[in-house]
Amino acid sequence: MKKQFAVIGLGRFGGSICKSLVAEGMEVLAIDMDEEKVNEFAPDVTQAAIADTTDEKALKSLGIRNFDHVIVAIGDNIQASILTTLMLEEMGVEHITVKAQNDYHEKVLERIGADEIVHPERDIGVRIAHNVVSENVLDHLELSDEYSISELVAGSTIAGETIYDLDFREKYGSSILAIKRGDDMIVSPLPDETIQQNDVIIVLGANQDINRLENHWMD
Ligand code: ATP
Repeated sequence: MKKQFAVIGLGRFGGSICKSLVAEGMEVLAIDMDEEKVNEFAPDVTQAAIADTTDEKALKSLGIRNFDHVIVAIGDNIQASILTTLMLEEMGVEHITVKAQNDYHEKVLERIGADEIVHPERDIGVRIAHNVVSENVLDHLELSDEYSISELVAGSTIAGETIYDLDFREKYGSSILAIKRGDDMIVSPLPDETIQQNDVIIVLGANQDINRLENHWMD
């Protein structure tokens, strides 16, 4: 059976999640207290409802307990976000993802048992900072406080060398997950693969090692 999602709060973040889930063919219930927002999304989603989710009765009458995954994307109103999450938790919703506005909000959400807490603004800030600091970085994804995946463009310094010669793992504690070469994607490249200029190298490693790579290696 298809997974059933509910998205509460149809701002830019919640709205974008709704659209992406629908594009993936998922069933989505979109909820907002603002009628205009609900009308805007109603044509695209499986079901849309006007409700203040801090009102327990309203939440219950939506049958929210039966959804597999609920995403709380209420933005500025931290109190409403916390109260909604708490009630979802008490109703026994299987999986709850909540957008956090700040560290204080995150702490409270952790305490009340949100399964997943996301910080879209902070995360995108980190990614963009990486992209603007180093021209060779195409994209950067922090997996945790310690580890990241980064997409780096190979410059002339390393072009012509094999992965074995470069010894990424030993020198930089990083692993090459894949190489994008034009339209080709070489997944888990072998040690004898020769790097070509403008290859896009996707590496996984500790943040400090990835930073070293980004700063020194790709000229
Ligand atoms: P984003 O940063 O994602 O763009 P935003 O700044 O648009 O978010 P808000 O407008 O603060 O975020 O909130 C997102 C949506 O959540 C709004 O459309 C708002 O109507 C809705 N919302 C806020 N409180 C509640 C609530 N108690 N019940 C239902 N929806 C709510």
